Amino acid sequence: MDKGLIAELIRLLGKAKVSTAPEERQRFSLDALGNYRAFHAARLLESTADAVVHAESVEEVAQVVRLANEAGVPVVPFGGGTGVMGGVVPVRGGITLDLRGLNRVWEIDAASRTATVGAGLLLGDLDQALGREGLMLGHDPWSQPIATVGGAISTNGVGYLAGRYGPMGEQVLGLQVVLPQGDVLETKGVSKPSPGPGLSHLFIGAEGIFGVITRATLRVFPQPERRALHALAFDSFEAGFTAVMEMYALDLRPSMVDFDEDLPAEGEREVVLYLGFDGFREEVEAAEHRGLDICRRHGARDLGQEKAQEFWQTRHASAERYQREVLGRPSAARAWRRWPMEYLHVALPPSKVLEYRRRCSQLLDRYSVPVREWAIWGRPELFSLLIAEPSGSADASWEVMARVVDEVLSLAQDMGGTLEYCHGVGLKLGHLMERELGVGMKAVREIKAALDPHNIMNPGKLGV
Ligand SMILES: Cc1cc2nc3c(=O)[nH]c(=O)nc-3n(C[C@H](O)[C@H](O)[C@H](O)COP(=O)(O)OP(=O)(O)OC[C@H]3O[C@@H](n4cnc5c(N)ncnc54)[C@H](O)[C@@H]3O)c2cc1C
Repeated sequence: MDKGLIAELIRLLGKAKVSTAPEERQRFSLDALGNYRAFHAARLLESTADAVVHAESVEEVAQVVRLANEAGVPVVPFGGGTGVMGGVVPVRGGITLDLRGLNRVWEIDAASRTATVGAGLLLGDLDQALGREGLMLGHDPWSQPIATVGGAISTNGVGYLAGRYGPMGEQVLGLQVVLPQGDVLETKGVSKPSPGPGLSHLFIGAEGIFGVITRATLRVFPQPERRALHALAFDSFEAGFTAVMEMYALDLRPSMVDFDEDLPAEGEREVVLYLGFDGFREEVEAAEHRGLDICRRHGARDLGQEKAQEFWQTRHASAERYQREVLGRPSAARAWRRWPMEYLHVALPPSKVLEYRRRCSQLLDRYSVPVREWAIWGRPELFSLLIAEPSGSADASWEVMARVVDEVLSLAQDMGGTLEYCHGVGLKLGHLMERELGVGMKAVREIKAALDPHNIMNPGKLGV
């Protein structure tokens, strides 16, 4: 990157906010995508930003984007850096824009049940601010303590409460976005968007390719008068899944559905449904009564309150561990982290889930890839599987995994589903986007070219 541009950034923002130090550049060039799980994109994980800018206001973001656009230099938005698809990797170098300084709570309007906040605010900090007002956010992912509002919107993440409140995108009412040529677009923070196409939607799940989200007005909810939690064991995945489907057929929507069949390499197979019901007292009592009745009719055994409460209390433990063991470590060690497992999350028509599971199982058997978990999260259509390293193949295990992953995701697409319900596309799944969107991909490219003629905003992501 041109030295003159760096000097201009320093002149505009001050020395303390612009860094070209190698350690800093490396630290902000990675997320949670380890090289084993990046497959063919692994070599791109070595890309490094030329400069890191720590922005603190929309004006600063707009200045940086305007300069970069004039110079044709890439800009990569960086939230918490906890994405698992390589979304923040600066594949063409340029400026990484650290947005954690945009962390102000602008307004909590309890009567309107909205919160307007900076995009760099951590979800956990937002939850605490809302809690002080008797409110809560409907998006509660594992990574709540370490992910930002802007990152969650840009990946359209899913959390524990999605059953009742939906994914992060459904929490968004209005957005403030710096467009790729430096203009600042604002959509209104009301539940009925302005007439015409819903512009906020353009930026939900867009992984920063259409602009930088700087502020969001979010829908928030009263803390439930009552939250009931249950842990239930089933004899089979089919029995538990049928119980969940029966609840949905009634339009009974538990706030939390976390249903797993665990198949550990050693030890007992377990099929457990964690169920949560939120709301006012009478509503929760009625939903709980009917929901548990359905589960019992499908053979559920109650595992007790202690197990249910412990599950809820420890739901962010993986993020706390990640913060301790990974976020604090030098980036080079993170890049080469090897975790020979793969977690895949597809969305399917609910009526196809059991057939998909059966066909996936046959596919994985063919490659001797063991399944460690089949799961449903939030809604019956959100299906995931955790697979381990293949055994007995002459090829490198990551090559087999790469092939298997493409086939598992393509099968979901062929059965009317989508390739990812939770983490976005990033670097890792770009090669499947043409297959995913068809002609839609041409439309995405045309919108991108119109908004961002110099292709500066997070190039190389989402398959664009
Ligand atoms: C331990 C752990 C647990 C996780 N659990 C979950 C989970 O339960 N549910 C879930 O959905 N995900 C989960 N994730 C993945 C990750 O936390 C989410 O994808 C999260 O939404 C990313 O937020 P972030 O702030 O870290 O974004 P980043 O990783 O910084 O960025 C993600 C993408 O969004 C873009 N971006 C970031 N901020 C902005 C902005 N303001 N404007 C425009 N573009 C932007 C980036 O360029 C990148 O493409 C988990 C990750 C880890 C490590």
